[in-house]
Amino acid sequence: MTQEKNNPIESFVTAERDTHREPRVKITGLMMQYYHVCERELWFMSRGIDIDREDANIRRGTHIDETSYRDKRSSFQINGRINIDILDSGDVIEVKASSTFEKPARMQLLYYLWYLDRIVDIKRDGILAYPSERKRESVVLTDNARSEIRTSICGIIEIVERDTAPALEKKSFCDACLYQDLCWM
Ligand code: SF4
Repeated sequence: MTQEKNNPIESFVTAERDTHREPRVKITGLMMQYYHVCERELWFMSRGIDIDREDANIRRGTHIDETSYRDKRSSFQINGRINIDILDSGDVIEVKASSTFEKPARMQLLYYLWYLDRIVDIKRDGILAYPSERKRESVVLTDNARSEIRTSICGIIEIVERDTAPALEKKSFCDACLYQDLCWM
């Protein structure tokens, strides 16, 4: 128990694998994505501050294309918060409208692969797809990727548990952000 307390990753994995326990922070794929876009955005989202995500002005290239690969994939939900699409080939697919936020999208998909592996003992590779750009890339859970995910999980927990939002910092994509009115008005 002491080791678990001092190791946020072990604590997270133990809680996620135990149906009678909850992790300190329930980390979704979207939270992993937000963490790699803007820590302030992650904090707002963790507080349940939300607005209309279907607004065309605020999609910012992260909107999932629900029509792509419709015939070739099955959707699964794990622990009520991890939503994963699996193709007939067995690969986990994440579909994005644009590759503008490539790293956040890749980290979201890597989190799904890591979660499948560590929490439900299923090993899969991934595909990141941008149908409108006719682009796909393979995503594999390497040792480096595992390390990046562990670091990100610790970072997410640290930010979500803060009492106040991370400091305001202008980014090139703030004008298209869900929370621009909260940050800049
Ligand atoms: S408006 Fe900019 S600083 Fe504020 S949450 Fe969005 S991306 Fe982050």
